[in-house]
Amino acid sequence: MITFYPGPSKVYPQVADYAAEAVRSGIVSLNHRSAGFMDVVKETVRLLHEKLDIPADYHVALVSSATECWEIVAQSLTAEASLHPHNGAFGKKWVDYAYKIKQPTSLSDADVLCIVQNETSNGTQVSMETLAKFRQEFSALIAVDAVSSMAGIAFDWTLADVWFASVQKCFGLPAGLAVLIYSPAALKRAEEIGENAHYNSLLFIHENFSKFQTPYTPNGLGIYLLMRVLQQVPPIAQVNVITKKRAADWYAFFEQEMSGSLFRILISDTAIRSDTVIAVEGSEPDIKAIKTAAQQAGITLGNGYGDWKNTTFRIANFPAITDEEIGTLKQFLRSYKR
Ligand SMILES: *Cc1c(COP(=O)(O)O)cnc(C)c1O
Repeated sequence: MITFYPGPSKVYPQVADYAAEAVRSGIVSLNHRSAGFMDVVKETVRLLHEKLDIPADYHVALVSSATECWEIVAQSLTAEASLHPHNGAFGKKWVDYAYKIKQPTSLSDADVLCIVQNETSNGTQVSMETLAKFRQEFSALIAVDAVSSMAGIAFDWTLADVWFASVQKCFGLPAGLAVLIYSPAALKRAEEIGENAHYNSLLFIHENFSKFQTPYTPNGLGIYLLMRVLQQVPPIAQVNVITKKRAADWYAFFEQEMSGSLFRILISDTAIRSDTVIAVEGSEPDIKAIKTAAQQAGITLGNGYGDWKNTTFRIANFPAITDEEIGTLKQFLRSYKR
């Protein structure tokens, strides 16, 4: 079975060996305040900076999920109100979660701008050029959900203060861990707000991670797997080139080889099409039929999500997927068309 599900998604096959290694070596049984475990955390943070080219002065912490990051931004970094321009299901979820914690009184006092860089539900993305415009126009903090693009494409990190992603998408790892990156300005803001009432208050997380520790017993296996996968993957500049080439090939494939078929790319505006999640539209019965046929051919397509649940399927364009697997899916689509 090969999978193009955009999360949880294909994990690197080496993860099986890394997991066995973590158990055999006793890493997973180490006390999380021990030197041995702190070394793993330290090395993971160092590798994130190195492989993803994160600025040296941006801090890195590890938490449990992107959903937790949405809450951390609301509880620890929002004094008045957060703004959430969005066009899809994850952007909608973020605003719902955020406003349960920090119900805004007036949006004109907004002090955090929340952007979903890659909207996994409909295959759109916010370009670095657009983010640069937000940066110019908005003087307060910018927080970016990059769950389905971080480790798949390169970012200009300086265009936002908070970036986060869970690892079950472009990192090619099992779920249950998320990377939270924050700028010196974000830390300063957290200090001004002074919120320290939660186990995952940013100030408390920061205090712990500055000692390579965590506020609670962490997902040690997940952290070890992240460290091992980061050792294996090329620098983000290289990954970025491959991801963008594969995305361009996918879009060209649908426009050329699949033209006149029952399926088309959901997003017609080429400027906002995602590089990492390709959403393909069709009628409800056609989408149902192709997903079933693909399954029978040993290929899992991503279901639609949110408003597009029954009228799209999605193709993950994540780094762990091989050229051979992409070739297999293209061959399936060609023969399905006929
Ligand atoms: C998958 C996803 C999430 C949710 O991640 P969790 O790890 O389940 O919290 C949030 N935002 C986007 C854009 C996603 O694709």
